[in-house]
Amino acid sequence: MRPRPFRLLLAGVLAAVLGLVAAPVGSAATMGNSHAAAMQAALAQRGHYVGTIDGLVGPMTRVAIQAFQAEVGLRVTGKAGARTVEALGGPARGVQGRTVVQQGDVGWHVVRLQFLLAWHGFPSGKLDGVFGERAQEAAERFQRWAGLPVDGVAGPATFRALRKPPVRLKARLSTPVAAVVGDVFGPRGDRFHAGLDLPVEQGTSVGAVKAGRVAYAAFHEGGFGNLVVIQHRHGLRTRYGHLSEFSVQVGEAVRRGQTVGLAGSTGRSTGPHVHLEVLFRGAMVDPLPLLTR
Ligand SMILES: [Zn+2]
Repeated sequence: MRPRPFRLLLAGVLAAVLGLVAAPVGSAATMGNSHAAAMQAALAQRGHYVGTIDGLVGPMTRVAIQAFQAEVGLRVTGKAGARTVEALGGPARGVQGRTVVQQGDVGWHVVRLQFLLAWHGFPSGKLDGVFGERAQEAAERFQRWAGLPVDGVAGPATFRALRKPPVRLKARLSTPVAAVVGDVFGPRGDRFHAGLDLPVEQGTSVGAVKAGRVAYAAFHEGGFGNLVVIQHRHGLRTRYGHLSEFSVQVGEAVRRGQTVGLAGSTGRSTGPHVHLEVLFRGAMVDPLPLLTR
């Protein structure tokens, strides 16, 4: 189950009503364990798991482990012991610290890398355990971001940097539309949703979350539909996707709260909503804990 951003949003509204302005709308999404995510992906590949690859071991994961254990003749415990992990293609006991993953590799540690990269703001498509071009590019971008040598090979230094928690910003951003929160930042199926969905009625005014300058305002082929991107100070950038109309032009300065466009469902979208992304120096971060009423 997902956290309940809905309740958190209501709490935010209440706080605003009570005069506690600038109360954060919601708390950060919970990052699961990368080994558990790799295990879920391995179970999914074998047809035992259809849940989200979130690295959070719940009843669905335990049932999948049981089914796998029964299938391969291991003792059915629902817990992933060393034998179960090895049978799923995971590391043998004692070799975890010496992982090196690079292009062409497949399997457990590649899923771990993809999962950790996504949570640190560099998603690379499907969490499929295949180290292709997109994963390599994401690894390089993370290495540059983290001040590591940029070689696209994920060795102990890269994994060590990825084990640190994702960056937490102190920025306070205005909510672009009044809405009950939809999909949050985090794993979604076998992919990673790197933004926040705010379902609203078609044509709702979408406000800039902070003052800045418009860096992009056009149709985007990558699935965003009509997209506005605003560059703010201190390396912060925000994106507003699926708009029905633009209210700003590239190069224009915008104030906090100024309408940048109208909400819609253009691009890869199943209904009117704002897909909000927040980037810090190129890394995507969870917008929810930054939003204030
Ligand atoms: Zn979205």
